Amino acid sequence: MGEQLDKGSLSSYCRSMIQFMLKCIRALLVPVFPQRCVLCLCELSGTEMFFQPETHAPLCRNCAGQLPVLSGRRCNVCSEPLVSEKDLCTACRDTSCAFESNTSVFHYQGMVKELVWVYKFGKQRSCASVFIPFFLSLQTPGGMIHKENFTSIIPVPASPESLKRRGFDQAKVIAAMLALKTGIPFQPVLKRGRGIAQKKLSRSKRQLNLSGQVFFTPRHEIGPRPLLIDDIFTTGSTGNECSLVLKQHGAMQVHVVTIAKD
Ligand SMILES: [Zn+2]
Ligand SMILES: [Zn+2]
Repeated sequence: MGEQLDKGSLSSYCRSMIQFMLKCIRALLVPVFPQRCVLCLCELSGTEMFFQPETHAPLCRNCAGQLPVLSGRRCNVCSEPLVSEKDLCTACRDTSCAFESNTSVFHYQGMVKELVWVYKFGKQRSCASVFIPFFLSLQTPGGMIHKENFTSIIPVPASPESLKRRGFDQAKVIAAMLALKTGIPFQPVLKRGRGIAQKKLSRSKRQLNLSGQVFFTPRHEIGPRPLLIDDIFTTGSTGNECSLVLKQHGAMQVHVVTIAKD
């Protein structure tokens, strides 16, 4: 018990030390390289920034206000607007899936498409911090992203091909940031085998392509309520395959959160 407490306080001490050091480095660099909004390229000063300067989120207020946030009652799986009192739309009620819910922050269109493109293909990792406050304000069917509601944060793994092409795993960066913010244990326990890129396949072939291609690499306990992080929700087949694997390894309920719904 004592050892657990020591480990806990040590990791929170390390977290605050890392955050403090990052703040110092940024404070030194900002006067030399003023930050610009990744979408409209305006120069960001304290007043134009959408977020507090210390979050290092490269987005201006104007662009942030135009992001198409999903609102109103939505289907717990596909995020389509709901017309009845049920939590699932008619299409999702007829389909079984291995996760309990998916909650997307945005519509995958316009400025969000641009932002995701800059993040993934422009390799601007700092864009990850733009998404964090939006995730933290999400009300998912599993509760808000708090330590009391989830036992671990797990990124949906990138395929070896896209990892090689982009040089980083976009969901993993966001998942690690969310874990750092919330104190929920970060457990990147899933790995993806080689397969055809999902976006090249039809809806019906996506699940088949992933079947048996997601592997569990035991590290630490994921607990009964892991939160799965992905970038874009399209058919749900990636989240489904990952959730199946997590449920074979101790998860009782899997909730998914994604940046945007395609
Ligand atoms: Zn802007
Ligand atoms: Zn639906």
